Amino acid sequence: MCGIVGYIGHREAYPVVLKGLKRLEYRGYDSAGVAIYDGKNIKLSKTKGKVVDLENRIKDEISVDGTLAIGHTRWATHGEPNDVNSHPHYSNSGELVIIHNGIIENYEPLKQELINRGYVFHSDTDTEVLVNLIEDVKKNEDVKLGKAVQIALNQVVGAYAIAVFDQKKPDEIVVARLGSPLVIGVGEDEFFIASDASPFIEYTNNAIYLEDEEMAIVRRGKKVKVRKIKDDSLVDPYVQELQLNLEQIEKGGYDHFMLKEIYEQPRAILDTFRGRMLANEGIIRMAGVDDNIEKFVNANRILIVACGTSWHAGLVAEYVFENLTRIPVEVEYASEFRYRNPIITENDVVIAISQSGETADTMAAIKLAKSKGAFVFGVCNVVGSSISRETDAGAYTHAGPEIGVASTKAFTTQITVLTLIALKLAQKKGTISKSEFHQYLSEMDAIPAKVEKTLESANHVKTIADIYKDATNFLYLGRGYNFPVALEGALKLKEISYIHAEGYPAAEMKHGPIALIDEQMPVVVIATRKGHYEKVVSNIQEIKSRKGKIIAVVMQGDKSIKKIADYVIEIPETLELLTPLLTTIPLQLLSYYIAVMRDCNVDQPRNLAKSVTVE
Ligand code: GLU
Repeated sequence: MCGIVGYIGHREAYPVVLKGLKRLEYRGYDSAGVAIYDGKNIKLSKTKGKVVDLENRIKDEISVDGTLAIGHTRWATHGEPNDVNSHPHYSNSGELVIIHNGIIENYEPLKQELINRGYVFHSDTDTEVLVNLIEDVKKNEDVKLGKAVQIALNQVVGAYAIAVFDQKKPDEIVVARLGSPLVIGVGEDEFFIASDASPFIEYTNNAIYLEDEEMAIVRRGKKVKVRKIKDDSLVDPYVQELQLNLEQIEKGGYDHFMLKEIYEQPRAILDTFRGRMLANEGIIRMAGVDDNIEKFVNANRILIVACGTSWHAGLVAEYVFENLTRIPVEVEYASEFRYRNPIITENDVVIAISQSGETADTMAAIKLAKSKGAFVFGVCNVVGSSISRETDAGAYTHAGPEIGVASTKAFTTQITVLTLIALKLAQKKGTISKSEFHQYLSEMDAIPAKVEKTLESANHVKTIADIYKDATNFLYLGRGYNFPVALEGALKLKEISYIHAEGYPAAEMKHGPIALIDEQMPVVVIATRKGHYEKVVSNIQEIKSRKGKIIAVVMQGDKSIKKIADYVIEIPETLELLTPLLTTIPLQLLSYYIAVMRDCNVDQPRNLAKSVTVE
């Protein structure tokens, strides 16, 4: 997955690239490296570990002056994270240097061919194969770097965003993309290259997002030239004005991005429905839905494809859509869907959910669904992301940048967008009454304030976290709309505290997990007073009888559960369908505080990366 950054212009390049790498660390952080051109030579430094390890290492290793540099923060796919496998990688002659995000799937035969021709490999990466392939083409065909990159990439199967330069022609960086994101920041006589716009946002708002199968030559003092990799045709680059600001990507006084993002949820949810939902007038306006309303209301079924937390948001949406619109819904893991020859027709609507809009499996699922004629609608957070461009229409969540690897505000804003869509369709189809529709809208309007109120339980949740921080297992139970919330709560805990946790529909407990319950087992039960309440109370009794420890998330004023649970966390009263937007908050806080107390790296949990751009 990894993050790539590059700079060519009039400033010292290293500080720009280093700061950019820190901002992209959410994409991968098992090793990092930079290559700087100082006017005469390439100076390269790389190391296993985080960007800060690279920063420390560089102090004793190389001088950092130079106005051209590329940098990389890695999430290893080929070859373990160690110094040698870190990027950048040199070609055999030492003239070319590359950074790469993605996977070269046919690297083995290519490598063998190159070995036969005398090339020597120092790392286990697929990337080193690519840079030598480019070098080989460049020498054999006697072409310039840009052409060599193009010819080489036409032999490659896989996914990539690359930046490569030639020390013999150090006035340009050649970049290309297929399947992994790449954006070029266009400043005054300077250019920035990055996986997303965050590394250069304080320097320029103008950006060119490369499309798949495009490459560009970024040359000092010249206009960016973009071409199609396959047929060499020139593309007129579209320079987009970005809406991102620096404050949005900094921690703003919080200890971690995750905590900041948890606390941003009232604002993020409001931003999600701002301008789309006019509660008093009883109007929901969403261009992507309005323009395609017939497709939605006439759909045979809605198929939701997603991965991870987005898949959980999809599960919540399944309950919401079926209940409100009476359209059948299926929710699929994108990674399974794409490989199982699914039945898709032109009458299906596919909703693809991805925070980053770059999730490789979700992207592949979209392409498959489109090839079968389905209408595909995207729900993404990152504006201009690959999925938002690939889908037929879509709605952004407008949560603002999510940097913490464990997703929080993306989840609640995805649920918000999906609920708005369901309400809109229900209104159009007449599957809910006018008064119900108005009630939902005015209750949705109240949600940001109620999330704010729920956040007031933070200190109480912290106390509970302190009591259970050393547990080795957790169970999370919920029913109906809150079953997916239980899954999401368990995922959050696993991701950032490394405690084993499982989420279950509460009634399923008797079919297996109940065997795990003893006095050591904390069980988080979502037991809001609406929806299967008595049943959940019985489930809690069953746990209690087996001495399990109960942490219950209840609705304000609940009396019955208070008597039996060890701890209760209250959420404000709301409609059952909207409870996931509130019940999920204490679960996020619980996992956050436990992880902090266990000294875990909350924003960069081991082995994970924020945007999963490999399958
Ligand atoms: N496949 C490359 C490697 O393993 C790049 C990985 C990535 O995109 O993070 O080094």
